[in-house]
Amino acid sequence: MNAGDDSRAGSCIEHRRREHAEHDARHEEARRRGRRSFRFPTLSTPEDVGAGPLYVARFIEPAMFLPLHLTYQSWERNMESHRTVLWTPIAFLALAAVGCAHSPPPPSLTRNLDREEFEQAVRFKNPSVVTVMALANQYLATGRDAEGHTYFCKRATEVPDRAVFGALCGMFQVRMSSTVPALQRSDWVKDGMAKLDRAAASDGLSRYLRGVVSAELPEGFGRAQQATEDLEWVLAHPQPFPRGIRRAAYVGLSHAYRTLGKTEASQRALAQSGSASSSPPAVTDFSVNARDGFRFTTRELVQVAPGVHVAHGYDFAEIGFIVTDDQVVAIDAGTSEANARAALEAFRKVNDKPLRTVIVTHAHWDHIGGLRAYLGQDTQVIAETHFAEELEIANRGGVPFRYFFGDNTPGPLELRPTRVISKPESLAIGGTRFRLYPAHGGETNDALLVELPDLGVVFVGDTFMPYLGAPFAAEGSFEGLLDTIALLRSLKPKLLIHGHTPLTENFTVDVLEPLEVGMRVVYRETMSAFREAKPLSEALWRNPVPAELEPYPNAIPPFLLMREGAIKRLYHQRTGYWKVDGEGMEVFSRKEEAAVLDLVADGDAERMARAGTSLNERGDFAMALRIADLGLVPHPATPSLVAVRMRALEGLRAKYQLSPFKFIVYSELAGADMAPPPRASGARQRQLRTKDTLVKETAQESDRLVAGWSAPVD
Ligand SMILES: [Zn+2]
Repeated sequence: MNAGDDSRAGSCIEHRRREHAEHDARHEEARRRGRRSFRFPTLSTPEDVGAGPLYVARFIEPAMFLPLHLTYQSWERNMESHRTVLWTPIAFLALAAVGCAHSPPPPSLTRNLDREEFEQAVRFKNPSVVTVMALANQYLATGRDAEGHTYFCKRATEVPDRAVFGALCGMFQVRMSSTVPALQRSDWVKDGMAKLDRAAASDGLSRYLRGVVSAELPEGFGRAQQATEDLEWVLAHPQPFPRGIRRAAYVGLSHAYRTLGKTEASQRALAQSGSASSSPPAVTDFSVNARDGFRFTTRELVQVAPGVHVAHGYDFAEIGFIVTDDQVVAIDAGTSEANARAALEAFRKVNDKPLRTVIVTHAHWDHIGGLRAYLGQDTQVIAETHFAEELEIANRGGVPFRYFFGDNTPGPLELRPTRVISKPESLAIGGTRFRLYPAHGGETNDALLVELPDLGVVFVGDTFMPYLGAPFAAEGSFEGLLDTIALLRSLKPKLLIHGHTPLTENFTVDVLEPLEVGMRVVYRETMSAFREAKPLSEALWRNPVPAELEPYPNAIPPFLLMREGAIKRLYHQRTGYWKVDGEGMEVFSRKEEAAVLDLVADGDAERMARAGTSLNERGDFAMALRIADLGLVPHPATPSLVAVRMRALEGLRAKYQLSPFKFIVYSELAGADMAPPPRASGARQRQLRTKDTLVKETAQESDRLVAGWSAPVD
């Protein structure tokens, strides 16, 4: 290092220290005024960060368009008692970006299976947009911007006509600019933006990406106006985009308007995003809180085929209503009577025939909990013959997490069918033909498929639930899943309606065949791992994305959604309680493991916290959470460990914001809520998305059918 470098480094440190002190003073001032001012600095407002070069911190740290830091209510709540300690390292992170290049995060110590799966799948010939964006999300959530930059720039060179690769190359380039020496940084950012400009000229998704990146740029780049145009255009054309991105688009708009000095418009956009504060955006339609539990999407009633309506988002599960000549047939009844009533009320705006029949797809909490709301004197209730077996499993174990169903968590479940189905049966209700097929998989042994043969619609319940049974219950069948796929393929349906919105969107008719092929590979590989007595971790690593799936881009997301749960289910059903690596032979409590870790750390809580912080920086959130949880046993409420824990949970929520059950559990552990997503205005939002409807994707026959059927309702 020469003298010049030395003095620059010195001034950098001095600068950071000064800014750091100013930050603390500003924060202390805010605290005294009683304002809940904490905010992850990456998305700080100009008022919080101050004008000038500091503002650059906004676009340098993790968290930009796709997900990252979700809502901060509970984070802020937790901050109240530990504010000073937490604020310090976070403020430093932001300030480090001011004028001095800081090094990229150290490498991960644990493997990110999700990321490697998607890296492999995006190397396939024609990866779907969902697959590409899921990979981008993995880099973003774990703060691996440089890796994202390398990966997507390489793909952009290899496949120059796929604009989104160039856009993501540009996006990660801008994001990693804090690692570039200060003097080169402006050119580096401009070059990244030029890549986004080129991509945005030919591709709607790339235009969205340019909008959210531009919205975060400091005023000096002169990009705010163009950001508002890009993002308003995206919001005005909801149909080709996944609904989840609307949150991020509104948050981006809010930032861009603020940069333009349009305070009112900025606040309006922020309110529309569903965010309570200028917190970093998320790309999911999920919402969750302790009172209402989890929702996959906002409330809407969709007519998916003539006379066939599905209530999304009124409950954890979907509720179907089928109009016949003289009555309404409900498919399932949600988790609580209140939710079931709300869905029926919405349906009553389009039809007032009496509800006389309820067909139950399976006896799980979220499909029969609200049944009583639909029962009249002569209501017919139809269920599969094994329902009592499933009721027993559900009532024995319950749901150990409150955030699934909130205060609606049902007590002991009851189901008294007036008719049970033990073999395929046809029946006519009010002139409409129904065919009912018992099935035994993948989620429960009492599945009932409900076919409307004249429309080609099949309600499949949760037979494709990717966890193959509730992850906390002893149920589920891999073979049952394969049998159900075979049965469905023989019916040649046009549209599958699942028990939950994302399943309907991902597990479509056209992916049944490749999904079966992929799952057979998983089965074979997992069985061979058993024969070799390999531990679960090794079974999970085998052949993540079979080459057989390459010709079926739309089958990759549902396959990967299901793969982990399927292997874990097989593993727990097929192996004993001793594993070859010694797992299960001796069992230790958390308290005992914590005592040993404390011994390793010489009883120093800060030492554990430093390890946890390092793991978080590396994107090893699950391991950081474990260290923090263990450290907090001998050192309860230690602020630095609490901070590590909250940051780890925040990272896990970002990483799994498209994976509902993990998202629910990590939200509960963090006590963190997620507000409902913004609603699209206009009728086009009613379109039932089947899968990749994004720009430049090949339209499939089933897509067109569904698009033709989907009509606005309310
Ligand atoms: Zn369900």
